[in-house]
Amino acid sequence: MTTFKVDMHTEKVNTIIIGGGLSGIYAAFLLAAKKKSFVLLEARSRIGGRILSPEHHGFFADLGPSWYWPMINPKVKALIQTLGIKGYPQFETGMGRFQAKNGHVETIEGYPMDPPGWRLSGGMISLVNGLCARIPKNVIRLNHPVCEIERLYNGVRVTVGRLDHEPECRLTASRIILALPPRLAAGSILFTPDLSHNLTQAMLKASTWMAGHAKFFALYDKANWRRIGLSGQGFSLCGPLGEIHDGSGEANRPYGLTGFVGIPALRRKNKKTMISAILAQLPLFYGKEAGQPVKVYYQDWAKEKFTATEYDQRAAHNHPEFQPPLGKKSFWNDTVHFAGTETADYLGGYLEGALSSAQRAVYSAI
Ligand SMILES: Cc1cc2nc3c(=O)[nH]c(=O)nc-3n(C[C@H](O)[C@H](O)[C@H](O)COP(=O)(O)OP(=O)(O)OC[C@H]3O[C@@H](n4cnc5c(N)ncnc54)[C@H](O)[C@@H]3O)c2cc1C
Repeated sequence: MTTFKVDMHTEKVNTIIIGGGLSGIYAAFLLAAKKKSFVLLEARSRIGGRILSPEHHGFFADLGPSWYWPMINPKVKALIQTLGIKGYPQFETGMGRFQAKNGHVETIEGYPMDPPGWRLSGGMISLVNGLCARIPKNVIRLNHPVCEIERLYNGVRVTVGRLDHEPECRLTASRIILALPPRLAAGSILFTPDLSHNLTQAMLKASTWMAGHAKFFALYDKANWRRIGLSGQGFSLCGPLGEIHDGSGEANRPYGLTGFVGIPALRRKNKKTMISAILAQLPLFYGKEAGQPVKVYYQDWAKEKFTATEYDQRAAHNHPEFQPPLGKKSFWNDTVHFAGTETADYLGGYLEGALSSAQRAVYSAI
């Protein structure tokens, strides 16, 4: 039988933000600007959530989001300006490549993004780091997975740890901002009293955008594909990569090719096998040098327990129409507020939705 430490110190704050992805960190930035007391609990040992940009000699390889679309992402564009970050357009000059089901690769017309997509010079992580630099140092607690949320007569109590272990710590607050995918919250956090069946189902059915996907990034000293008139864009019906793009830095070096794996999560092999298969595929598109990068990265988001659940293993291919679960922006009499891009009213799933959902949660919570 689990025995709880009844004398455990319970810390009290005004607001608890659960999740340190873009929506949680942006909520923290907005609360800090209003001088509100809060803590942010993040399950992983890093911030950023689906934003992940490992560094290689000053270049940041985006293994989560790469693009924002300035023409339709006003909040992202404004934040980039506020933080003084530099963006640059996706390289798309030249012809594309197409691989048929039988493996045959041919050259096709280029197909520029519409509206145009832009990258960030310091990788997408520069958004998160820029926000963090503007919030107090001691408010972010890494390695703090929330496993339980209870409603009290005058607020909420949050338990950190694993449900099969003794709790690591407890905090009470007047309100919570749930800045994580609703499906993940419903599937991994115990709520007391029970959430209604309909709300739980709506949360579970809100698929987590891109959670079932895997992304690849290869870096090179030279861009052979550009030299032979190719843009670096490619599509394949046989894989392993299904979609490929030029991922080079703004000042070109390092040059990069990046892409999404086309094989569904349930059929993907381990990282080593996937990387070898991708490095065998790339030369068919861009010449033998494409199989010899100086550095490779591979991230299978479906295997990340703080992003994907078992329901995300079958990837959603079409972009769902996201909205707050059951149309609710909060529950328990405005004590718990939904943030997280999947709860956005507009452009849910994207970075823009992460920002707007955080803004809504903060302004309705204070
Ligand atoms: C491969 C890929 C490519 C993408 N490409 C683009 C793109 O080009 N452009 C674009 O606009 N969007 C893109 N996206 C989507 C974009 O990444 C998301 O919209 C955005 O990052 C979501 O931020 P979020 O804060 O809502 O959620 P998340 O980033 O998922 O943050 C949730 C946070 O909660 C934490 N957490 C989870 N469980 C717990 C718990 N129990 N306790 C405490 N913390 C917890 C997680 O660790 C995580 O840090 C892409 C996503 C992926 C994966």
